Amino acid sequence: VKNKAKGHVYHAEDTDTRDSRQEKYQMKEALAQALDNNRLVLFFQPIYSLEEERVSHCECLVRMLDANGNFVPPGEFLGIAAEANLMPRLDFIVLEKAMQQQSLWRKQGIDVGLSINITAPTLEQPDFAKRLAEIVKHTEADPERLIFELVETDALENIDNAEKLLGQFKNVGSRIALDDFGIGFTSFEYVRELPVDYIKIDQAFIRFIHERENDQALVRSMIEMGHSLGKKIIAEGVETKEALDMLKAMRVDYVQGYYLSRPVPIDALNLALKI
Ligand code: C2E
Ligand code: MG
Ligand code: MG
Ligand code: MG
Repeated sequence: VKNKAKGHVYHAEDTDTRDSRQEKYQMKEALAQALDNNRLVLFFQPIYSLEEERVSHCECLVRMLDANGNFVPPGEFLGIAAEANLMPRLDFIVLEKAMQQQSLWRKQGIDVGLSINITAPTLEQPDFAKRLAEIVKHTEADPERLIFELVETDALENIDNAEKLLGQFKNVGSRIALDDFGIGFTSFEYVRELPVDYIKIDQAFIRFIHERENDQALVRSMIEMGHSLGKKIIAEGVETKEALDMLKAMRVDYVQGYYLSRPVPIDALNLALKI
């Protein structure tokens, strides 16, 4: 009887974990299907150059088209993709689509670059440099108009190795941005040691900047630090006119956020927007 009662308790717990395990399993299946059936779609979000006063780049942000025709945001499947070692596959699909788009713009005489998120496991693929060169070649994209966005991760902790990995982008003439700057623990070590061209200040510091003096002080210092090191600064998460005006006064180089545009499908993208 004792065992049975105990078993019952365990059973209840098992049901809980089984539910979330099942959800995860379903998401993994959906993702595998999406990868196989070309159901990953890129959305584009303008990055506005305050110096050039125009949209100079767009960030590519992946969505998964599910069986009901809904776009699933990356927050719901990237963790599972990483766990299932599917990030390299996903990143290569995004890379291919992004470069095709950049090539199209190039051929149409549209001088807009693309910014592509890439993860460390992908960079660590032994044939990464070779595949990157192949995609550049067959898409006829201009690699000099590409920025690769990286976030701080364990995989890049070995700085010597990270430098070698990032060299793969430098070799084809692309630029590198440090994404989500300021929320990691080793952000400063990264800018000190790695050949990054852009610093993207995390939206956590930007969204409410017009209301928070602490954020103002931190962002002002991040901009000054970046500029002293010869980096360009991108502020992401600009949601209001107030935040935009403040960032302009602080001499940030680029802005990105809902105030300008949400990420949108290619057909809805407005490259001519002015702020
Ligand atoms: P991220 O690279 O830091 O991208 C910025 C995220 O902030 C995007 O979320 C974007 O939609 C959102 N965002 C942009 N402006 C605003 C704003 O004004 N306010 C607020 N609240 N949010 C804003 P999204 O598209 O859901 O992507 C989330 C994360 O998923 C990205 O963060 C990136 O780390 C990852 N991700 C997205 N697409 C890809 C991809 O193609 N490959 C890889 N490896 N990762 C990706
Ligand atoms: Mg990004
Ligand atoms: Mg970011
Ligand atoms: Mg992020």
